[in-house]
Order: sequence, then C-alpha cells, then structure tokens
Amino acid sequence: MTEDNSQELYDRALSVMPGGVNSAVRAAIEPYPFFVRKGEGGHVIDADGNRYIDWVMGLGPLLLGHDLPEPVQASIQQKASEGPMYGTPTPVEVDLAEFVVRHVPSVEKIRFVNSGTEATVSAVRLARGYTGRNKIVVMQGGYHGAQESTLVEGDAENPRPSSAGIPQSFAEHTLPVPFNDEDAIREVFDEHGDDIAAVLTEPILGNYGIVYPEDGYHEFLREITDDHGSLLIFDEVITGFRVGGLGCAQSEFGITPDLTTFGKIIGGGFPVGAIGGRAEIVEHFTPSGDVFQAGTFSGHPVTMAAGLETLQFAAANDVYDHVNGLGERLRCGLTDILADQAPSYTVTGTDSMFKVIFTREGPGPDSLEEQCEAGCRQNATCPRYDYCPKNAADVKNAETERWRRIFWGQMKDQDVFLSQNQFECQFVSYGHTEEDVERTLEAYKEAL
Ligand code: PLP
Repeated sequence: MTEDNSQELYDRALSVMPGGVNSAVRAAIEPYPFFVRKGEGGHVIDADGNRYIDWVMGLGPLLLGHDLPEPVQASIQQKASEGPMYGTPTPVEVDLAEFVVRHVPSVEKIRFVNSGTEATVSAVRLARGYTGRNKIVVMQGGYHGAQESTLVEGDAENPRPSSAGIPQSFAEHTLPVPFNDEDAIREVFDEHGDDIAAVLTEPILGNYGIVYPEDGYHEFLREITDDHGSLLIFDEVITGFRVGGLGCAQSEFGITPDLTTFGKIIGGGFPVGAIGGRAEIVEHFTPSGDVFQAGTFSGHPVTMAAGLETLQFAAANDVYDHVNGLGERLRCGLTDILADQAPSYTVTGTDSMFKVIFTREGPGPDSLEEQCEAGCRQNATCPRYDYCPKNAADVKNAETERWRRIFWGQMKDQDVFLSQNQFECQFVSYGHTEEDVERTLEAYKEAL
C-alpha cells in the first residue's frame, strides 16, 4: 500500500493550515491522515487509490452511505444548478421543517442553522433567554460542539474551560456532572436550582465511547427539570434520525424534551444544524421573540434538499432495518471475538452505532451464551451490562493508548477505517453490506 500522495498533501497542508487540518480530530491519525479522493457505498478511496471499509461515515451524517440514491442526488443537483442560495426563504426549508415536525413529536417548531455547534449555541442562548437564568448543566464527557458554554471540564463545584481562549467567568455558568448519576444532579439543583436554565445532554453519549443511559435516568432528568422550571435539552446531533429511526432517540426512550438540537443526518451530508421544540419556547427566537438568532447560510436550499430527500428515502425504504441489522451483527460478532480473545474488553452501541472499548474488566467468556439476547442495547437485562461504561470516567479509565495502537494501525493495515480515537463512535450506513461486516470482523479478530 503506498501513501505517497497523502503524505505529500499533508506536508502541503501543514504549511497552510494549523495542524494540517480543518477539524482537530482528523489529525489524530499518525503519522499523517489519509486524504480521501472519493467514496463508494460503504467504502472510501484515498488519494493513492487505496480502498477502505469506512465505519467513520463522515462522523455520522451519512446514513445512506457515500452513494446517494438517485432522488437524493437529483434534488441536490437541481438545487445547486438553480443558483446556490438567495438570502430569502425557499419552499424546501418548509418541506423539511414539516417533515421533522410530523415525525418528532416534541418538535412543534424548528429553526435551521449550519452546524451542530451553532445549534447548541443557539439552544443554550434560547434556554437562557426563555428562563431568564444563567446556568447550564452538562454531562462530563458529553460533546456539544466547539462552543464556549460547553467546552468546560471539572465538576459542578470547580468548572473550568477545557480549551485555551475561554474565560473562567464563562465556565462558571456551566455545571458538569457525571452521566447516569442522579445524586449529582440532585446536588446541583439543590445548590443552583433557581438559576439553572437547562440540562443539556446527549440521550446516549456518542463522543465518549458510546455510553447508554441507565433505566429511568432520562425520566429522572425530565422530572427534576420540570420541578425546577428548567428546560431539558436533548442534543440529538448524533442520535437524531439514527437511533430510534425517524422518531429519534427520544422516541426510543419515551421522553419529551423541551428542546432538541439536530445536525449531521438532518442535512443529508451537507453542513447543518437545527433547534426544535415546543412552539412556545422556540418562538422566543428573533424575529418572533427577543433571543437573537440569524445566519446567512441557514436553511441553505442544497442542504435542505439533501436532508429532506434522505429522510424521505429512509421513510420509504428498509434503511433502518438494514443499518440496525448490520449494527447488531457487528456488535454480536465483536462480542464473540472479545469473549474468545480479549475478555476484558467491551462492545458498546445500539442501532447503527458501535464501538469496542478497552475496558480493563469485561464479562468474560462464560456469559457468552446469553450475550446478544438483549439486542446489544446495553440495558440491564444484558449479562454484560455491568461491564459497559456508565459514565465518562469509565471510558477514560480504559486503555486508550492500546486502542490507538491496535485499532488505528492494525485495522487500517487491513483496509478498515475506524474512528480516529477511543472516544468517537462508529457508524453503519445503508451503503454497507454483509460482506463489509464479515471482512471487518475478520480484521478485528486478526488485530486482537
Ligand atoms: N453535538 C453533538 C452530540 C456532536 O456529536 C457534535 C459533533 O460531533 C456537535 C454537537 C457539533 O456538531 P458540528 O461538528 O456539526 O458543529
């Protein structure tokens, strides 16, 4: 396998772009990232012509894979050929808004923006404007984009910026708590209840190894936010239109958040974000309300068309059956391999998300018989549930360095492209095949 072109491109990139990339995680691949020339189905082909089975899928937006079905392609091309955008509304953004409102019961109104980050920035501002309060509770290990209110680490007693360039005084309005820890939430509400505008959480932590909520956790969040007049915001940038199908993860858990942030799939592979929720709250955005929100590219016609056609295609075809079926096959196959070869490690994920976490203690080979009975949903009926990470600390405690060495190097050498670190999750698309799954399982077996 030669990589001369990728290497040369990276050298050029390093001299004109910080770290040689436009998003930090892409540089995590050592000694250099491979540069992609094009995608095909569930595969990518790099600048040197090497082909990889791609489980990164653009970090989540590509539900349909790299080959967009004909109606999706046609609509995108038509919109682009009609003149890219206008600075005035277009019919397709109404169509997409109506589609989302029809399928996600908590969403009565929606505002489209251009990234998941922009969605969470605007949702936090909206929550603060609506409640007249300052503080936001977030989960340790949760990710809500590159924004000041959520790039905060530590705990609720000692929040501190997780990036240079963010004043400590900003971080003080953010209260990080461990995921799945009801006592920690009770404590922050006891202390700051009158000033908590919202609890902002991913329904399933998708940027920290895939951590599933324990039974009753989201019900608890719903109840305590209601009791204190705070909002519950689900960040469904990853899970939206992936987990739980068109109803999103909130339908899977039977929870009605006040606000939901979307991104990734809702734009069909083009830059997108959105904030949806109860009309009475979302109406607080300008121009109907006083929480300023605007964007030159928001509701971009090409993005709206890609999102709408993608979701309509998923509604009319066996997309979720296909991706969730392959997801389950991967998780069960990996569970078998781990039980045999590396019983201290754990498989996590649900629907079309999957990951192997290098936990230090796993279920061991004995529980194998029953292991996939629960459909790999990390719920309490699964015999390996006790070993699944429950919060960010459990994932951080895993052997992250070993993950990097084994999976990055050895899986890539076998033409399998996995996420660039231990924390980001991996995605199945409609473009993947059973053969991709079987080849990937063989490669894992070899690497482990
Ligand atoms: N929220 C979640 C849950 C995400 O996973 C991400 C990105 O991965 C974001 C927000 C930020 O989205 P974007 O990268 O589109 O700004």
